[in-house]
Amino acid sequence: MSLPADAPNPHYPHLFAPLDLGFTTLRNRVLMGSMHTGLEDRARDFPRLAAYFAERAAGGVGMIVTGGFAPNVVGWLKPFGSKLSWPWEVRPHKFLTKAAHDGGAKICLQLLHAGRYGYHPLQVAPSKIKAPINPFTPRAISARGIERQVDAYAHSARLAREAGYDGVEIMGSEGYFINEFTAPRTNRRNDAWGGTPEKRMRFAVEIVRRVREACGPDFIIVYRLSLLDLVEDGNQWDEIVAQAQAIEKAGATIINTGIGWHEARIPTIVTSVPRAAFVDVTAKLKPCVSLPLVTSNRINMPDVAEGVLAAGKADLVSMARPLLADPQWVEKARAGQPQRINTCIACNQACLDHVFENKVASCLLNPRACHETELVYRKTYSPKRIAIVGAGPAGLACATVAAERGHRVTLFDAAGEIGGQFNYAKRIPGKEEFHEAIRYFANRLEQTGVDLKLGTTATAEMLRDFDEVVVATGIVPRKVSFPGSDHAKVVGYLDVLSGKVAVGRRAVIIGAGGIGFDVAEFLTVEGESPTLDKARWMAEWGVDPGFEARGSLARPRPEPPAREVWLLQRSPGAPGRKLGKTSGWVHRATLKAKRVQMLGGVEYLGVDDAGLRIRVGDVEQVLPADHVVVCAGQEPRRELQAALQALGKAAHLIGGADVATELDAKRAIDQGSRLAAAL
Ligand code: FAD
Ligand code: NAP
Ligand code: SF4
Repeated sequence: MSLPADAPNPHYPHLFAPLDLGFTTLRNRVLMGSMHTGLEDRARDFPRLAAYFAERAAGGVGMIVTGGFAPNVVGWLKPFGSKLSWPWEVRPHKFLTKAAHDGGAKICLQLLHAGRYGYHPLQVAPSKIKAPINPFTPRAISARGIERQVDAYAHSARLAREAGYDGVEIMGSEGYFINEFTAPRTNRRNDAWGGTPEKRMRFAVEIVRRVREACGPDFIIVYRLSLLDLVEDGNQWDEIVAQAQAIEKAGATIINTGIGWHEARIPTIVTSVPRAAFVDVTAKLKPCVSLPLVTSNRINMPDVAEGVLAAGKADLVSMARPLLADPQWVEKARAGQPQRINTCIACNQACLDHVFENKVASCLLNPRACHETELVYRKTYSPKRIAIVGAGPAGLACATVAAERGHRVTLFDAAGEIGGQFNYAKRIPGKEEFHEAIRYFANRLEQTGVDLKLGTTATAEMLRDFDEVVVATGIVPRKVSFPGSDHAKVVGYLDVLSGKVAVGRRAVIIGAGGIGFDVAEFLTVEGESPTLDKARWMAEWGVDPGFEARGSLARPRPEPPAREVWLLQRSPGAPGRKLGKTSGWVHRATLKAKRVQMLGGVEYLGVDDAGLRIRVGDVEQVLPADHVVVCAGQEPRRELQAALQALGKAAHLIGGADVATELDAKRAIDQGSRLAAAL
């Protein structure tokens, strides 16, 4: 018996309850949060952006918020970046609004004035104070200039309405222009726009009031309010409540939660941040206003979202990256199939890191994200028998895409479980989300009908009769060679992470790449990872648990390290420079808090019973160590390919088996997916 169309969803009733805004209704409580993809900056990329939105709208999201658009040139994020200020800029936006509406979603344009975060010399700010993350110093804006900015917001919102948007989101958080007005950290004015909390918030309130006036009563105004600045001299709780109430009075429809300025030294979205870490601050605001509140940050699965809504902590949940990873997230949740969701692991590797490198965003787990028009998995008319050897990320992506297209795929792995190196990554404290990626692929293999042969080391002979052979056998860890490198103290990272070797109290790590850093985190944390315990995590990073202090900062109280660890590299300079743009600083700060001693420019002289002898510059020393853990990169594992060649059988190489240098899962999955799309 089927349920009536308006019956509550049996799996996630709160998540799928429509939200009546008075003049319009959202079909559910999922807001696709604003995220810059790099497709916003040029009108010629709008058809691609529309295709990206269309898939998410068809996948069931309630409302989409676009990436940020500046209301004028001084508000640019970067030179010639996304902006909506002229009538002729309206037309391309109609692609986007149509794409969202055709899929049944509402769509709001985000109005983002970058203020002193603008990466260009025209930037302005309430006061002439340079941001620590930007080389440009802003000009302090005049009072007349401020009036012009308010006009620009109202004008831009009117154009958004003309383009068919259901509303706008006014970006008032993350340390951008409006937030710079509200916080004493960046507003040192003594005129009508600064000096007291009331005057500091006047700019925000005026913008909301003027946008409402310009766009009429039946237009959604989401205001993104910084509930936690996480910087010194940020706002304090009573000021934030006053801002929320004034913004409600000025005519906003919804308040969205903003967490942390971009210059904050507390991570807010990376994978080691606990799931739903900050929802309690949204909950704290709830009794103070009557507008619907959106909560945000590290909500990536339906049970987490439902839990937050059911507990009355918020009225909507915002997700950006989870919808990049899986455009069907909402539909899968609605159908009660969370196990089918391709869960965002919060790695930032293909989304935010790309944006910061001026590349188009995508997703490590879903290379089609923002490439929907170009990477298409078409049904095949000539199914082939395909053998794929290796069920690591490269082989899994290749197998599932090829099978989805209609090929008959057999996937071999010598191990007893799928996942390849992800089975080591998931053991790192703070990387628990990697379990989800393995779960997703396991489900996907089943759904697409891949014939999985675990515990089977494939030989060339076994592959002779397949139409296509794909070698995805991964890597072998690189060995080091210096005197004593065969000493019993010298162990490989795989043996350490698998628990084969119980590492002593003093460890030296050779190699400070991504894996060296991960191993250092593994060795310094004992017991349950703080990522799984919000209170411990907040204490470690210094977030005021009551959210009362100015900026919500408290004194960080890192837990003592489980071991004394050294992390070494041969290259000069501080280790960790090559880590991800948006996550590397978190790894460096984590290890610093654990008192890991990091050294660059190291020459390895040898290992003996005393420990590891090194030279740095002219100085030789012995690092007394119980174990020396080698994390010195990898080499491709290719013996199978050689055997296939001897049989005269051609094979495709993907992932680490192809190129091990600087291999990461992003490349492995992208390469596997693209090969499968072409077979
Ligand atoms: P692998 O994952 O190595 O898989 C190869 C598979 O082939 C294995 O399962 C193996 O058993 C199988 N195999 C080999 N020979 C045969 C044979 N003859 N027959 C059958 N099966 C065979 N990358 C990131 O992008 N981000 C991260 O945060 C990250 N963290 C990491 C943390 C750790 C601790 C580690 C170890 C790695 C991490 N990586 C990370 C790297 C990432 O896991 C690898 O880049 C990725 O797994 C490579 O995928 P692959 O499919 O090429 O190879
Ligand atoms: P890597 O990043 O290439 O680092 C290897 C390290 O070993 C370097 O520090 C290198 O530095 C050192 N090294 C290389 N050859 C050596 C030798 N012969 N003797 C001694 N030291 C040597 O490789 P990885 O750390 O193994 O990581 C593998 C891949 O996984 C990387 O591409 C990385 O992107 C990915 N990964 C990513 C993350 C993430 O969080 N994004 C986490 C883990 C892994 P010197 O040459 O200066 O000594
Ligand atoms: Fe999430 Fe990583 Fe994909 Fe970004 S790249 S959406 S963080 S899984």
